[in-house]
Amino acid sequence: AREVRLASRPSGWPTPENFDLAEAPVPRPGPGELLVRNVVMSVDPYMRGRMNAGRSYVSPFELGKPLEGGAVGRVVESQAEGVSPGDLVSHQLGWREWAVVPADRALPVPGGPEDPAPGTFLGVLGMTGLTAYVGLAEIAQQRAGDVVFVSGAAGAVGSVAGQIAALRGAARVVGSAGSPEKVRYLTEELGFDAAFDYKDGPVSEQLAEAAPDGIDVYFDNVGGDHLEAAIGAMRTGGRIAMCGAISAYNETEPPPGPRNLGLMVGRRITARGFIVGDHIDVRERFLGEVGEWVRTGRLRHRETTMSGLERAPEAFLAMLRGENIGKMLVEL
Ligand code: NDP
Repeated sequence: AREVRLASRPSGWPTPENFDLAEAPVPRPGPGELLVRNVVMSVDPYMRGRMNAGRSYVSPFELGKPLEGGAVGRVVESQAEGVSPGDLVSHQLGWREWAVVPADRALPVPGGPEDPAPGTFLGVLGMTGLTAYVGLAEIAQQRAGDVVFVSGAAGAVGSVAGQIAALRGAARVVGSAGSPEKVRYLTEELGFDAAFDYKDGPVSEQLAEAAPDGIDVYFDNVGGDHLEAAIGAMRTGGRIAMCGAISAYNETEPPPGPRNLGLMVGRRITARGFIVGDHIDVRERFLGEVGEWVRTGRLRHRETTMSGLERAPEAFLAMLRGENIGKMLVEL
């Protein structure tokens, strides 16, 4: 059974040498546990934070131990009531081919011929989609008629967030992303009203052009100059869902904050950080509403997939560099 371990902690950008592909015996399930053969796993930006020593909202990965993260796998042996061999489950023990998962930490995933591919439950119908949904509906309290700006808009969370905003009645949805191909994807395939490549010039100028009357909601995946530009473009009563700040994840020093924070007072702006794991209670409502949009084709999704556990570190690094469109997955 192969697994990917953390060989060393990166300083700045991670490299392949920080990972180690190792062999371990296939683990045995005990009472209440499932033996799962993983079929697909997720690589996520937050995993970069877990490669550092020191606690954040999740504990750090341990040196010499396999990394962890979202995965969907097929149950091969079950020592738990209600779960049978052949069932698909999603769980948090990715980065390995075989996992022993406590049944109470595994969620059932539908695996019928009509059902979406297993990886969908790590992307648009998994934590990724839930993050977009919670960020807009609960955190930013998006209302019909709002002008919404989403950064990281061609990525997993951002591409869903922008489309949900439109489906919830946004007056205008603007996205930013890091390549001309991604900008075209946003406007031509996902229905964004405007999009720009943040590498083409100052975000504040490009945002002013794309949203000349300002914005009501900012879904922040990036932080840094994107956040400053969004504050500068906010209308009175604007709301910011602080989802992530990927522009800083590989910096060795924390970057300075937005220089225009003072604007938040006069404009009565609310900014709120959130972690999707605190909002699992919204999952049923999310699966009902967003699941229906996906089934009927009103909400589109794309995955970027690499094959083979040995490519998981490469997939993770490629995602950090922006080589993915939509959710980055690794098939095992
Ligand atoms: P993505 O699929 O969006 O992949 C990451 C993307 O970030 C890349 O494709 C790249 O696209 C972009 N990026 C990388 N570096 C920069 C940079 N310096 N400036 C701007 N964009 C950059 O990942 P996710 O959808 O999984 O995650 C998106 C964000 O959501 C992250 O900040 C993540 O931490 C956060 N998140 C937060 C959660 C929560 O509970 N709060 C849960 C899940 C995710 P490009 O080509 O456009 O640069």
